[in-house]
Amino acid sequence: MAMASITSPLLLAHKTKITTCNSSHRRCRLTITASSRPLRAAVIGGGPAGASAAESLANANISTFLFERNPTGSKPCGGAIPLCMMEEFSLPHSLIDRHVSQFLLLSPSNLPSLFSRHLSAETHYIPMLRREVLDSFLRDRAKEKGAVVVPGLMTGIKMPRSEKEPYVIQYISEGSTQTIEADVIVGADGANSRVAREIGAGEYATAIAFQERIRLPPSAMSYYTDLAEMYLGSDVSPDFYAWVFPKCDHVAVGTGTVSSKPSIKSLQASLHARAGTKLAGGTVIRVEAHPIPEHPRPRRVIGRVALVGDAAGYVTKCSGEGIYFAAKSGRLCGEAIGKLWREEGKVTESGLKREYLKKWDDEFSGMFRFLDLLHKVFYKDDAGKEALAEMCADAYVQKRTFECYLDKKMVVGHPWEEMKLAWRTVGSMVRNRVLGREVERLRMLEANLSSLV
Ligand SMILES: Cc1cc2nc3c(=O)[nH]c(=O)nc-3n(C[C@H](O)[C@H](O)[C@H](O)COP(=O)(O)OP(=O)(O)OC[C@H]3O[C@@H](n4cnc5c(N)ncnc54)[C@H](O)[C@@H]3O)c2cc1C
Repeated sequence: MAMASITSPLLLAHKTKITTCNSSHRRCRLTITASSRPLRAAVIGGGPAGASAAESLANANISTFLFERNPTGSKPCGGAIPLCMMEEFSLPHSLIDRHVSQFLLLSPSNLPSLFSRHLSAETHYIPMLRREVLDSFLRDRAKEKGAVVVPGLMTGIKMPRSEKEPYVIQYISEGSTQTIEADVIVGADGANSRVAREIGAGEYATAIAFQERIRLPPSAMSYYTDLAEMYLGSDVSPDFYAWVFPKCDHVAVGTGTVSSKPSIKSLQASLHARAGTKLAGGTVIRVEAHPIPEHPRPRRVIGRVALVGDAAGYVTKCSGEGIYFAAKSGRLCGEAIGKLWREEGKVTESGLKREYLKKWDDEFSGMFRFLDLLHKVFYKDDAGKEALAEMCADAYVQKRTFECYLDKKMVVGHPWEEMKLAWRTVGSMVRNRVLGREVERLRMLEANLSSLV
């Protein structure tokens, strides 16, 4: 086995021994070289989850390595974030491409309703940004705080045999295979998480999301200046929704599905048909697709390894929202590791479960369960989605939805308004189911008649 020690700036800065290794990492034997050293954390993945975790770890004086396989790339994403994230994560307003203050919801029968009476361009808008801009900003900030950003693809992890031994991470950087030791690992490597696979965290169901970035002629683009669209209907997505989101000089046009993954391109074609002339004359500048987790992983902490963001499965069912939850979970996990190291002098599985998982679940599992339930009720079929669109025209529903989305607060509603809302929901569901059945009956009748002619 050929193995050569190298002295790198990382080694000097962090008293960590790095070796290059030409054979399977599972046979590499490395020992921790530093005697009195800080805790060493490796964060795999430099999206919002990983960059936020790395920033918190560096803030806690933990020797932090942030691995990102594609630092100049961009994660396929709609790039809509809740407004509260700007302040909570001290994001400069220069990152925002568009202040969306008009949100058009199109029902399965293509009836538009303006779902944005509660929005305003100045104070209550949906920030739209490009992920390449957000992610590199967050990674640069983690670096400023002291994290070492390593451009590299993590390819394997050798597990420790005791609580005191480090993990040995194998990665490819600048064409060569290298290894590094870490006492604790944060798996922030997204929906196809290699870290989750290495530690045996179990599988989760995923949706597939497909998106085109389309540059529109100026006249067409002006329609989308501060306006986003959400399309409902089994033609564009049987179990999710399709979208047109504005970016700096183009629109992101996409759809997602769990149950019809092979049909994703025909769903996208239907979206184009529904959007019609609004997208006419556009040039496709990028086509991208990526899985979106449907549920949390069966296990999110194993040993001294914690999963965050998409790797953990923190995406809401109804909206497919995950950027905020990624950054939030990364930060919470980084802070938990810092606290454990500072107060207990060690990071353990039980400590991570207590300081990270429990706090996460206490704050967010109710919200995720609620949105899961809404998804089950309204996204089952077109009648449900038609009822959802009808409900969303209601001023009280809009207020509650945007309070919950933009501010990430499960606000307790007004009891009388809540009762009226429940009653209207039942009414909409019944009406749209009855109407849906009637439309279906008429369609079958028409098909039978035309087969007779
Ligand atoms: C088409 C689409 C549209 C979406 N639209 C929205 C939206 O509008 N709003 C919203 O809130 N959410 C949206 N989401 C969900 C959102 O993109 C994710 O929830 C979010 O990106 C999760 O962040 P993350 O940091 O956990 O993972 P990711 O953003 O996936 O980042 C993981 C990072 O890890 C790196 N990586 C992976 N493997 C390795 C490895 N082995 N070694 C080193 N690096 C590695 C990747 O290059 C990547 O940079 C959308 C998702 C899709 C697919």
